[in-house]
Amino acid sequence: MDYGFDDDQQAFAQEVRRFAVKTLAPHYQSDDKAAEFRRQLALDMGAMGLTGLRIPEELGGQAATAVIAGIAAEEVGREDFNATYLIINTALISDIIVRNATAEQQRAWLPGIASGETVPCICITEPGHGTDAASLELKATASADGGWSLHGEKTSITLGMAADRAVVLARTGGPGARGVSAFWVDLHDPTVTRSAFDDLGSRAIGRASLHFDGTPVAQDHLIGREGEGFVSTMQGFDYSRAIIGLACLGAAQASLDEALQWARDRVAFGQPIGAFQGVAFPLAEAATHLKGARHVCLEALWRKDQGLEHSAEAAMAKYWAPRLAVDVIHQALLTIGHVGYSTEHKVGQRLRDVIGLEIGDGTAQVSKLVISRHLLGRQYAP
Ligand SMILES: Cc1cc2nc3c(=O)[nH]c(=O)nc-3n(C[C@H](O)[C@H](O)[C@H](O)COP(=O)(O)OP(=O)(O)OC[C@H]3O[C@@H](n4cnc5c(N)ncnc54)[C@H](O)[C@@H]3O)c2cc1C
Repeated sequence: MDYGFDDDQQAFAQEVRRFAVKTLAPHYQSDDKAAEFRRQLALDMGAMGLTGLRIPEELGGQAATAVIAGIAAEEVGREDFNATYLIINTALISDIIVRNATAEQQRAWLPGIASGETVPCICITEPGHGTDAASLELKATASADGGWSLHGEKTSITLGMAADRAVVLARTGGPGARGVSAFWVDLHDPTVTRSAFDDLGSRAIGRASLHFDGTPVAQDHLIGREGEGFVSTMQGFDYSRAIIGLACLGAAQASLDEALQWARDRVAFGQPIGAFQGVAFPLAEAATHLKGARHVCLEALWRKDQGLEHSAEAAMAKYWAPRLAVDVIHQALLTIGHVGYSTEHKVGQRLRDVIGLEIGDGTAQVSKLVISRHLLGRQYAP
């Protein structure tokens, strides 16, 4: 058994950390204040290879393992949690495309994602269907030219205002998951209108509702086979949930590190506050829980790389890590006291930002449903 990263993984982590400190960290708070997606962020992430991690090398990507994608999310999450959305979204979307699209489609779509020039998003959620995504209603009707046209609304879409292209799940058949197909859609088409959310956190990434009013989709923009879009897309979520976990833990670890430094430096009643067990013990508990959650996330990704079943571990990562990160960041804020509560400090922004991923990509309840199925059997947790 070996608990450490190998030399290549360590070197990669250090390289990403250097990039994140130099290129991302200076914008974390100003991008939040601007509340607008900065296009250069995607280009910088692309130049660093971070939007092409799961894309084959011959198409401009890194062909990286799932563990490497997780390491990238954790390191970036320490410095700019919001930039991890570009890793999470591109890893999820390119994995769906690599597994399901034809070689020709991959050649057309993936290089732009790898370079950061094409910002993609994934459109599943609708006003009436979130957790129960298999009931989605957005309709794809067949056109005379063999393609389709999309009619309906998607909502709560990460990067919905900024994205150029989207994987859109739409109903092409009867009810349930088997009636859903996945399409690669040009969001600059004039039939697509967008409206922005005014969110609590991750304001530099943003969410939006997208209205498709007869949006044309060419025949060769169907991803995989008709009726198989739901299952093939959901398979990708398994491992992206562990990447999300590590992104959240990165933000939590940065906050814990800041709280520890504060506990060493801040003096009260003639002593550094870290000398009081009331201050030190919550930080000791946070460090312990972070280590545990990190192992769960990395195991899920390692299992994915080995071709082993990993959906229970990924669900554990998704249920535990975002919730834990919220708790740890909150504790760090309290440790830093009134200074932590100021918007000048990053810790409050991290708290706002991380809460979003307690919901996005599936809530804790849904993750626990997946875990329960694995523990008890499908007949007990349908
Ligand atoms: C930051 C963020 C980013 C997002 N990005 C995207 C994106 O890029 N693309 C996209 O398509 N969607 C995105 N979403 C939407 C997200 O996937 C949904 O919000 C999520 O699936 C939950 O759906 P809902 O919010 O409609 O909640 P609902 O499904 O209405 O659920 C409401 C509450 O009921 C609980 N609940 C529902 N069913 C059950 C059950 N069977 N058992 C127990 N509890 C249950 C839920 O856990 C939740 O607490 C994003 C959301 C957020 C917050």
